[in-house]
Amino acid sequence: MFTSDSHRPVSPWPVPLLYKVSALVHLAALVLLVIHAEWWPVAVVALVVNHAVICASSLLPRSQWIGRNVIRLPGASARRGELALTIDDGPDPHVTPAVLDLLAHHGVRASFFCIADRAERHPELVTRIVAEGHEVHNHTARHDHRFSLLGPAAFRREIGSAQATLARLAGVRPTCFRAPAGLRNIMLSPVLHELGLTLVSWTRRGYDTRERDPARVLARLIGPGLRGGDILLLHDGHAARDALGAPVLLAVLPALFEQARLAGLSWVTLGDALNDPVIAAAGQAATPGAATSSGPGDKTIDPATAHQHAGHNHSRLPARTYAR
Ligand SMILES: [Zn+2]
Repeated sequence: MFTSDSHRPVSPWPVPLLYKVSALVHLAALVLLVIHAEWWPVAVVALVVNHAVICASSLLPRSQWIGRNVIRLPGASARRGELALTIDDGPDPHVTPAVLDLLAHHGVRASFFCIADRAERHPELVTRIVAEGHEVHNHTARHDHRFSLLGPAAFRREIGSAQATLARLAGVRPTCFRAPAGLRNIMLSPVLHELGLTLVSWTRRGYDTRERDPARVLARLIGPGLRGGDILLLHDGHAARDALGAPVLLAVLPALFEQARLAGLSWVTLGDALNDPVIAAAGQAATPGAATSSGPGDKTIDPATAHQHAGHNHSRLPARTYAR
């Protein structure tokens, strides 16, 4: 059952422009039908166009028309040359420990969007994620692929129960939310505001739940040029396996870290970049000095030279670490 979260919004929900325009379109259509009923085709066309725009905005994960949606880190973070690595759909007992080993080896902190039901089954992994300086964020209770069809009450139950579970297991209240497959509807934004959650999508994703070639996953993440402010998406849950049967992201991560290092870019968590004092303090306390440096924000890397770095042997690790 949904357990109410103690968070209460301190400001009213900022109504997106599309909602206001839509209200005006519906009102105008109604007035038109009352005054000039013979013009009904105009009203119908206006309503159809309006709903088509709303529908498209719901199906485009990076759309910002139906509520706040972070698709890049804030400008200050981008100028410092910071990147955020987000890892979805875990924790997974077979993949997440190996991901954490790689992150520790390279001195990289990441943001894990966890499915609460999975977190409940593997609480030790949630504990380890937080203890090693990473962040746990909300990726719903069950990762239901019908999520985008839910209404406000069901959103509150699905996200609120996940929030309560993850906060209990992690000891820190998640501040970011990501919808399954990035799909949502116009009723999600006010619920997220109510629960104190920021919707975070991505700048680039590797499609690593279905792409088995690590080189292609890496190319999607770094092309057409990785740059400060990018939010990257990979998966420790539902991870595709490469030709040798290993989770694809385990081969991608070392090559990705190397490319970022060559470009002078550093890694931060979403909490640090979005400047949430609670979660930032928790992360910094766990790994003092990690991911706090600055670097040039306009450096990019050439994807054409990067393919060679994404091999199939996930056990291949560079000799040095890349903590910045
Ligand atoms: Zn997911």
